[in-house]
Amino acid sequence: MSVGDHILDGTRFAAEIREEVAAEVAALGTKSIVPRLDAVLVGEDPASQVYVASKARTLAKLGMISETHHLAGTATQGELEGLIDSLNDDPDVDGILVQLPLPRGLDSAAILRRIDPAKDVDGFHPENVGLLQQGRPALRPCTPAGIMEMLRRADIAIEGRRAVVVGRSDIVGKPMAMMLLHANATVTVCHSRTRDLESVTRQADILIAAVGVRSLIGPDHVAGGAMVVDVGMHRVTDLATVEKLYPDNPKKMAAFAKKGAILAGDVDFTAVEPKAGRITPVPGGVGPLTIAMLMANTVAAARARRGP
Ligand code: NAP
Repeated sequence: MSVGDHILDGTRFAAEIREEVAAEVAALGTKSIVPRLDAVLVGEDPASQVYVASKARTLAKLGMISETHHLAGTATQGELEGLIDSLNDDPDVDGILVQLPLPRGLDSAAILRRIDPAKDVDGFHPENVGLLQQGRPALRPCTPAGIMEMLRRADIAIEGRRAVVVGRSDIVGKPMAMMLLHANATVTVCHSRTRDLESVTRQADILIAAVGVRSLIGPDHVAGGAMVVDVGMHRVTDLATVEKLYPDNPKKMAAFAKKGAILAGDVDFTAVEPKAGRITPVPGGVGPLTIAMLMANTVAAARARRGP
């Protein structure tokens, strides 16, 4: 599948954002400020380790400093809070990222509340959530902020249009709805108790799928010409499912043969793509934007705390 005009290339937009971030890092460097993000990783979840390592590599490529604090899965709430306190107090640390999910028994909400809001590069602290709701400047959650950035860069009109967000999580659905509302869309939020989902989503000019259910959104959920953004991320490891999701698609088959898995989204891409006006692919859509916005938030936090 080549990335055509109506397939929004998140990789390209993310590269643009990273270039801008690198330029800002260079400008801060002339004032001896090097933005630094500290990641906190608890336990041995392989996916979390991969995510943290990949974020650290991107930070380094853009000229920033990253430190990873790896605690054992047996770490107590007190130990984790002590680490957060020390990072809050360290003047050289601009951003703190706690990789979620935390192991069972640890209170994630309490940990996220403990992070200094000025260093909360994920935008999950209640103070930043409240500021976002009020439409005031704040560090904003990376995934919805990345989607807004993509819509802006792709010249997708938002004002006055009908946006439907499927999913109401604190990290994607709710902040996404709020950002679209502030951009003057008419916003509807759907969730697992929504009745007749299809009839609601079919009203969308802009449809955001952040559900966590693979291929939930099919052609009957989408109005012809709609903008469809797929936030979902699912690892598919069996050949039969890959063939069903992407029939006659040699590129997907080659990717699967190489890696033994492919990523798929909450949208049935093969069925929805011909109907959508614009659509984001998985992979290569929202995922790269999320990481790029984390970089942008780290620079923004550094500038707000100690920069010009
Ligand atoms: P989440 O916390 O599990 O929330 C899922 C939301 O979808 C909930 O609000 C849930 O409703 C709703 N939902 C579940 N089943 C539904 C159904 N059948 N019909 C309508 N709504 C339904 O998930 P999340 O953290 O927001 O993530 C969503 C997806 O995005 C996941 O696949 C995740 O891996 C992916 N993700 C990707 C990125 C990225 O960078 N690309 C970043 C974050 C997340 P209730 O509230 O009623 O339970």
